[in-house]
Amino acid sequence: MEKHYSAYFFDLGGTLLALEQDEIACSETGKVTLLPGVKDHLLPLRGTPVFVITNQAAVALGQLSEATARGFIDQINVAVGQVITDYRICMHHPLAGCPCRKPQPGMVFDLARTHTINLAQAVSIGDTTNDEQCAQLAGIGTFLWAHDFFHSVRLISQHMLFFHPHHTNEGRQSEQKAFSLFSFLPHRRRKRESASNQNLLCFKIIAWT
Ligand SMILES: [Mg+2]
Ligand SMILES: [Zn+2]
Repeated sequence: MEKHYSAYFFDLGGTLLALEQDEIACSETGKVTLLPGVKDHLLPLRGTPVFVITNQAAVALGQLSEATARGFIDQINVAVGQVITDYRICMHHPLAGCPCRKPQPGMVFDLARTHTINLAQAVSIGDTTNDEQCAQLAGIGTFLWAHDFFHSVRLISQHMLFFHPHHTNEGRQSEQKAFSLFSFLPHRRRKRESASNQNLLCFKIIAWT
C-alpha cells in the first residue's frame, strides 16, 4: 500500500541536487544537476505539500548570493512540474547559533506553522546525520535516507525489456504477466518501445514505490 504522508521535507544538496566538493554543483551557466530518480519521484507527489530545507552558509561567507541560492530551488521546481510548495534556506554563518541551521529544527517549525502541517505524519528525506537529527528534533514521524527513498526508482526503472510475438494472445498474456509482477507497487507505467522487427514488440516497464 502506498503510504500517505502529511508532507515531504527534502534536503537539497546530495538529496535532490548533485554535489561537488560538498557544495551544490553548478555549471558555468549556473545550471544545477538533479540526482537520478528525483524527477520521477517528485512528480507523483503533487497534491501533498513538498518542502525543501537547506543550509547555505556560503551566503553568509560571501561565496554564494542569496539569489543564486533561491535559484537552485527554482530550477528544481521547473524540472519537477512546480510540485515544490515552499522552502526555507538558512543563510546564516555556521557559528551564528541561529535556530534554523540544521540540525536545529527552526526551518521545519516555520514551514509547519505556515502550512499547518502535522509533523508526526510527515516524512523527511536527507543524506546526512544533520538531516536525520533535524527530523528527530522537529518531531517528524519518519526519516528516510535519500539513497533508500530514491533507490527503488533506480533499481526498478532499469530497462526491462519484454519481447512478444506481435498480435498473438500469447504475446498479450506475457506482457500482462510481466506488468503484474509489479502489482505491489503503486506507480507503474508501460511504454511501448520501438519494434525491432515486424514480429516482435518491445516494452519497457517502469515502476517505482
Ligand atoms: Mg545534503
Ligand atoms: Zn539560520
